[in-house]
Amino acid sequence: MGGRFYQAYNLTSRNDGAQMAIISDDDEFKNICSEKCVEKSLDTKPEAIAYDKSFENNIRPKTFDSYIGQSGLKETLQISIEAAKRRELPLDHLLFYGPPGLGKTTLAGVISTQMDVPIKITSAPALERPRDIIGILMSLKGGEILFIDEIHRLNKVAEEILYPAMEDFFLDMTTGKGQSVKTLRIPVPKFTLIGATTKAGALSGPLRDRFGIIHRLEFYSTEELTQVVKRTASILELEITEKGAYAIARRSRGTPRIANRLVKRVSDYALVKHDGAITEEIANKALDILKIDDSGLDNTDRCLLRLIIEKYDGGPVGIETLAAALGEDVRTIEDVCEPYLMQAGFLQRTPRGRKVSPEALRYLGYKVDTAQKSLFGEE
Ligand code: ADP
Repeated sequence: MGGRFYQAYNLTSRNDGAQMAIISDDDEFKNICSEKCVEKSLDTKPEAIAYDKSFENNIRPKTFDSYIGQSGLKETLQISIEAAKRRELPLDHLLFYGPPGLGKTTLAGVISTQMDVPIKITSAPALERPRDIIGILMSLKGGEILFIDEIHRLNKVAEEILYPAMEDFFLDMTTGKGQSVKTLRIPVPKFTLIGATTKAGALSGPLRDRFGIIHRLEFYSTEELTQVVKRTASILELEITEKGAYAIARRSRGTPRIANRLVKRVSDYALVKHDGAITEEIANKALDILKIDDSGLDNTDRCLLRLIIEKYDGGPVGIETLAAALGEDVRTIEDVCEPYLMQAGFLQRTPRGRKVSPEALRYLGYKVDTAQKSLFGEE
């Protein structure tokens, strides 16, 4: 399978001396690795893929103190880490789920710093063949963290290999054929698996049950994102006012990755059109040009909502139909657009498909008449 397969182990020294390794089958990713940055393959909107990945790594928080928000989750993790350290045992396997860009990979890096152990980063699509997963498990050192992104995309065979490794730290292998088949149990060092997924529901039950700690990452508040924006601006040595930071945060759809991306775009605008400083006025002008509206919706989001309203009477309509009509990938809509539109109250998921809410109609300037009200179940 996959003659294109490429596996890169790129050990990169971090400030704290620990090492991160990258394993990927992606050519673009391979080039990035050679530039001495720590990254994983991204699977979001096209502009996100084109987004400067080394920039993202430079601003990734490395400690709990610099990791903004998610306070409940941080507290639980700090306790688990402290307990594991006192027992001198590896941390339980962890599963993080939530939309892309909320800080799952970053958190895995923070845990590795905090536990003072190295981390290997890979993603499920890079573990297609049995030998990919066996190879990586055999290469682990005691206590090391293995981070598997998009873990819901692991195939059945890889999952079966992972189960005994996660549970008993053994690999069950068979050699030979027919009557001479032998089963071998090969020990693997005790490690911590951190899985990340945008779709916890797509994970198989047995795999989910093998994680000791399961956490959902929440969208960030505007106040938290203001801190993210200010932190990024200070790393990039940009001049920004409190209101300028807030203006960017407000339109970042609860997501640090988007906030960081917007800081860069707004700073480009500030540099070219003004004196480089980011004020509220400059931020708003730049974001208007980028067609990001007050609620953080971009063109794709608005097109999606308008399509459902204008062509499908507000829904329900199937996701495949929407993806085909928009020329977008189903996964982009499911993973990137929908979670935020649902959280903002603009979109509803029903067993018969996607439906817009009366709020979406009002927001986009459509009249919510009596017929539509009854359509949406309003009295
Ligand atoms: P995910 O793995 O959930 O897709 P990442 O961990 O790759 O998201 O985070 C995307 C970017 O957002 C990172 O570059 C990081 O700098 C920033 N980021 C994420 N979470 C936080 C946070 N809690 N505080 C500050 N920055 C964050």
